[in-house]
Amino acid sequence: MSVTDFKKEVHDTKVLDWAKDIINNSPSDRLVVDEVLNSVRRNEIWRGNECLNLLAPEAPTSPLVRELLSSEVGTRAAEGHIGKLERWFAGTQYIDEIEALCMELLKKAFGVNYADHRLVASMIGNMTVYNTLTKPGDNIMSLSQPFGGHSSNRYDGPAGVRGVNIYDIPMDSKELTVNMDEFEKVAREVKPKLVSLGASMTLFPLPVKEISNIVSEWGGKVFFDGAHQLGLIGAGLFQDPLKEGADVMTGSAGKTFSGPQSGIILWDDPELTESITETIFPTLAATHQVNRVAALAVAAAEFIAFGEAYMKQIVANAKALAKALNDRGVPVLGDHKGFTETHQVIADVSDFGGGYPVANLLAEANIIVNKNLIPKDRPEDWDEPSGIRIGTTEVTRLGMKESEMEDIAEYITGVIKGTSSTTHIKNKILDMRRNYNKLHYCFE
Ligand SMILES: *Cc1c(COP(=O)(O)O)cnc(C)c1O
Repeated sequence: MSVTDFKKEVHDTKVLDWAKDIINNSPSDRLVVDEVLNSVRRNEIWRGNECLNLLAPEAPTSPLVRELLSSEVGTRAAEGHIGKLERWFAGTQYIDEIEALCMELLKKAFGVNYADHRLVASMIGNMTVYNTLTKPGDNIMSLSQPFGGHSSNRYDGPAGVRGVNIYDIPMDSKELTVNMDEFEKVAREVKPKLVSLGASMTLFPLPVKEISNIVSEWGGKVFFDGAHQLGLIGAGLFQDPLKEGADVMTGSAGKTFSGPQSGIILWDDPELTESITETIFPTLAATHQVNRVAALAVAAAEFIAFGEAYMKQIVANAKALAKALNDRGVPVLGDHKGFTETHQVIADVSDFGGGYPVANLLAEANIIVNKNLIPKDRPEDWDEPSGIRIGTTEVTRLGMKESEMEDIAEYITGVIKGTSSTTHIKNKILDMRRNYNKLHYCFE
């Protein structure tokens, strides 16, 4: 039987046609399996060993975490809460142990009263927050995309699905933080039930306390979406949103926290415990991948042991890389504030053709970054933004320090200014990766 022709697709049909060709022309099902394995292997060799991966949302997981992701427990069903009576299925006593260890390790790593480990993505955590703290028709405030706002807190994500009205948090494009005078004006007018802070483009802490003080006058809550900064927050290096007045925080386990890709939700207020826990199950998670939970438990233990040193070096490397790029004539945002307090460096590459061509050119040289909207862009410039976003998590875990950031800045500048060929820089990166292929900040 052949795969049917496409009627209408959102995905790129050229790539789907490539796959269809292979499936329809393969002499056996076994050979199709080989094609899947080949793609996995090609990616592992290229992205795993030959590239400088500078994507801000990525982190390499430790060998132990990776091993656990294929463990037997990942085939088991364990819907429900921890404990024999709380489960739908029998036979879960060891799964209860794994999940309890994970939950308690997360509480310890972040110094919080409550944590949940069952979110297969941080998006699900954000849906949990909107379901718990808002009702359809409520007003909320969140960050627009040119200031790093994420779709999950906008109309096209969980916030939109919940049916809330979204007002932009007014930002100061120079200081890259909230414009508090303007915020107060808008907030007093629309009286948001929830203010969603935290962003995908994140350089500096946000005024959680000041915002919480204002919206608490009418019982408004503050949510910090710490997807990117989760590890930095856990290590005490960024800001501590829950201690500063946020009611709930979510985060991606696979970004700076460097665990298996999935989500974490944290809170301190016992009053929120039932509604959050019962939104996660039975509303948003059922079979929640216990192999992933085991991997998350180990990632949390590694974070407790090595997180502070690891996260400190991530930020030191980001500052060094930002300065080195800026010194070489690639304008980096946040110049007057020390460039960054996170793992991210945001460069304005509009003089070099813009974010999309620059990111693709860098990829030809095995340097992987992403195109990014920056404050001077409009939200609809999404396809052709002015900036690129660079993250230092992976290169840090590979053992690189400030002096390697100088080399990386030299390579990036060579490519985007066209003073070096992509082939020349690609060979430099291949050499560099031969010396940096072992993961640090984890148990042997
Ligand atoms: C990445 C990101 C998310 C989504 O996280 P996933 O774990 O990929 O679901 C949500 N919010 C922000 C701000 C993000 O950057």
